[in-house]
Amino acid sequence: MRSAIRASLFDFSADPSHNAGALRYIEDGLLLIEDGTISACGEFAQLRDRIDAQVTLHDYRGCLVTPGFIDTHIHLPQVDVIASPAAGLLEWLERHTFPVEATFDDPAVAADAARFFLDELARQGTTSALVFGTVHRNSVEQLFQEAQRRDVRLAAGKCLMDRNCPAPLRDTAEGGVQESADLARHWHGRGRLSYAITPRFAATSTPLQLQLAGELARSRPELLIQSHVAENVDEVRWIAELYPDARSYLDVYDRVGLLREGAVYAHCIWFDAADRARMQATGTAAAVCPTSNLFLGSGLFDFRASLDAGMPITLATDVGGGQSFSMLETMRSAHEVARLNGVAVTALQLFYWATRAGALAMGWRDVAGRLEAGFDADLVVLDPRATPLLARRTARAGSLEERLFALIILGDDRAVRETFIAGRPAKPGAEPIQ
Ligand SMILES: [Zn+2]
Repeated sequence: MRSAIRASLFDFSADPSHNAGALRYIEDGLLLIEDGTISACGEFAQLRDRIDAQVTLHDYRGCLVTPGFIDTHIHLPQVDVIASPAAGLLEWLERHTFPVEATFDDPAVAADAARFFLDELARQGTTSALVFGTVHRNSVEQLFQEAQRRDVRLAAGKCLMDRNCPAPLRDTAEGGVQESADLARHWHGRGRLSYAITPRFAATSTPLQLQLAGELARSRPELLIQSHVAENVDEVRWIAELYPDARSYLDVYDRVGLLREGAVYAHCIWFDAADRARMQATGTAAAVCPTSNLFLGSGLFDFRASLDAGMPITLATDVGGGQSFSMLETMRSAHEVARLNGVAVTALQLFYWATRAGALAMGWRDVAGRLEAGFDADLVVLDPRATPLLARRTARAGSLEERLFALIILGDDRAVRETFIAGRPAKPGAEPIQ
C-alpha cells in the first residue's frame, strides 16, 4: 500500500539544546510511504513525479507534520484514576490507584482499558508509549494484543511489587521476575512491541526483587527498563529508611544494574549532581512528567542542571498522576516548570523531547522519531489554525519557533488534525453524544 503526505515537514537530526543546526524544516514537503514505512522525504517539487495513480495523496497544506509523539511514562490502569483528589503521592496511591489496579486481574477490564487507552493516545497524536501495566500479567497481555492488532510501536511491562502494597497487588520476588521473563520471551520483538522490566518503585520491591530484576536485565540486554525515582520528598525519605546503605534513591537501582541505555526513569526531581552524572554516564533517560508533578505537588524538575549534566531528557504524561494525555499540554507544563526554575526552554527543545528523544531513549534510533526513508510512518499532523485564537496568533507568527510555541501554549487535541500509525490514519472520530 502506497501513500503520500503533502505538508510542511519538520524533524531533528540531533538535540537542538546542543546543536543549532539540528532542525530540518521543509515548507512545502512531501513524504512518500510504503507499507507503513517512509520511503522518501523531501521537497514536494522534487518528489511530485513519484505520485502515480496507485498512490493515495493526503493533502495537508497549511499543517505541520512531524514524527508522532512518544510518551515515555504512562500507566494503563490509571485511565480510571485521572483527576482524583488527594493530598499527595502516597495517599493518592492508597486511596485511588491501588483499588482500581486490583480490578485488572479481570482480562475483560484490562482489554476494555487497553482499547480506550490506545484510542486516547492516537487522539492526542501520540504514536508510541512506554507503559506500566498492573502487577497482573494479563494487563500487559491485553495491552500488547490490542497494540499488535493496531500495529502500534509500544513498550510495556507488568509491575514488579512484592511489598508495601495491598495483598491482591503483590507478587513475589522470584515469581514476579519469572513472569516478566516469560512475558518478555513471548512479546519482545513481536511486531513492533517491546518488553520493559518494570519495578514499580523501590518502596514496593524488596531488595531481593530488585536484585533479580537486575539479573534479568543483565541476561537480556535488549529489554527496556522503567521505574520511578525521586518524585516526592516523603517518598525520598521513605526510600532512605528502606535502603539505609544506598547513597541516594537512584543508587538503589544503580547498585543492582538497572541503569543503562534503554532504561527510563520517571520524575528525577530530587536529584543531586552525582545522580545526574550517573544518568548521563549510563545513558539512562529521564521521563519528565510536569503535569503530574504540578498536580501532585511533587516538585519542579531542574531543566538547567539536567541539561548542564548532559542527562537524556524525554517528556511524559504520567497519566493518571498526570492530568492530560496530551503531549502538547505536557510541553506547555514543561515550559512553565522550566520558567519557575529560571530557564526559558524553546519550542524546538520541547518538540525534540516529545519525539526523537523518546525514540532514542527506547533504543529505536534507526526506526522511530525521524522523517527519513526506512523510518516508521508514525506521524502527527498539527493544524496551526485549529481554533480561532490559534489561527489569529499563527497569522502573526514570524518563524517556525513562534508557530510551534503557539501550538504548545494554545493547542490540545483539536490541534491534532490526524495521527498516522504505520502509515494509516488512526485518530478516532468524534464520539456520538448519548
Ligand atoms: Zn508514574
